[in-house]
Amino acid sequence: MTATIVDGAAIAARIHQQVAEGVAGLAGRGVVPGLAVILVGDDRASATYVRSKRRGCRKAGITSELYHLPVDTKQAELLARVRELNGRDEIDGVLVQMPLPDHLDGREVTEAIDPDKDVDGFHPVSVGRLSAGVPTLAPATPLGVMKILEAHGIAPQGKRAVVIGRSDIVGKPTAMLLLHAHATVTICHSRTADLPSVAREADILVAAIGREAFVTPDFVRPGAAVIDVGINAVSQPELVGELYGDDPGRAEDLKKKGYTIVGDVHPAVAEVAGLLTPVPGGVGRLTIAMLLANCLQAARRRRGAPEDRA
Ligand code: NDP
Repeated sequence: MTATIVDGAAIAARIHQQVAEGVAGLAGRGVVPGLAVILVGDDRASATYVRSKRRGCRKAGITSELYHLPVDTKQAELLARVRELNGRDEIDGVLVQMPLPDHLDGREVTEAIDPDKDVDGFHPVSVGRLSAGVPTLAPATPLGVMKILEAHGIAPQGKRAVVIGRSDIVGKPTAMLLLHAHATVTICHSRTADLPSVAREADILVAAIGREAFVTPDFVRPGAAVIDVGINAVSQPELVGELYGDDPGRAEDLKKKGYTIVGDVHPAVAEVAGLLTPVPGGVGRLTIAMLLANCLQAARRRRGAPEDRA
């Protein structure tokens, strides 16, 4: 079998379009959704993510404000900024870009965000609501996983789903969304015994591990839908050659950037799976789209407009 390769960009483009339409629909009520982003310090990757998020906002018609705070910002100052943004009515989403510098307590900062503005879905109230199955803002990447399944007509109901990874930002919320969609869900982690045989039970296999090419064909039931969340920078030319042969795009990456981005799923899985998300170009494309969808959702909910998830 050769898997259908998911076009994450195309699915994301449709969601961006739906969000833009939803935002336009709010304009009639005089509502413009607003996102506030707090970035502390000068981490380049974080700055790049923030730029992409704000670009997405601009395209969708969501206003965004950036609070770029110095690396030596004190916890109290950061908390004060979050609370100030919580109090502003025209701000629907408050996002603090993680990771924060080591001296800051990210958990306390996350908990300071008004849950109704928690567009990242990391606040304990959001986690609790997600677990209870009541409407909430769920984390963007897991929502993206669900959108990919939906776009390919894969209904989780009645299926066996296996999620490898139990982080609070990807593994657990993905498992919870699959559970609420009526899949029978198993969550695996580093202590799971005989992982390949557990994974092979899956009709839907989600890999959120952070280890390049970890999920090999022996993990995969023929025809399964395999969703690769992993993002791993690989710089060893031998490993890249082993995984992709003489793929010119990968060689170009190594030459230009010194690394190439590899998922948690081995490329050979494409020969076994029924559906596979590529890396790059798969789940990662959905993450910003679903963040924007969350901003729209927060604005609708906070301002009493009818809800209709983009
Ligand atoms: P974490 O490091 O927080 O969690 C990794 C999980 O994988 C843990 O639960 C860990 O188990 C499990 N794990 C690690 N090694 C093994 C192993 N050998 N066997 C089985 N399970 C293992 O990572 P995240 O959840 O934050 O991210 C996962 C991946 O997804 C990363 O590559 C990250 O870059 C990517 N990511 C991609 C996003 C996107 O937009 N596409 C967004 C967010 C993340 P244990 O709990 O036992 O330690």
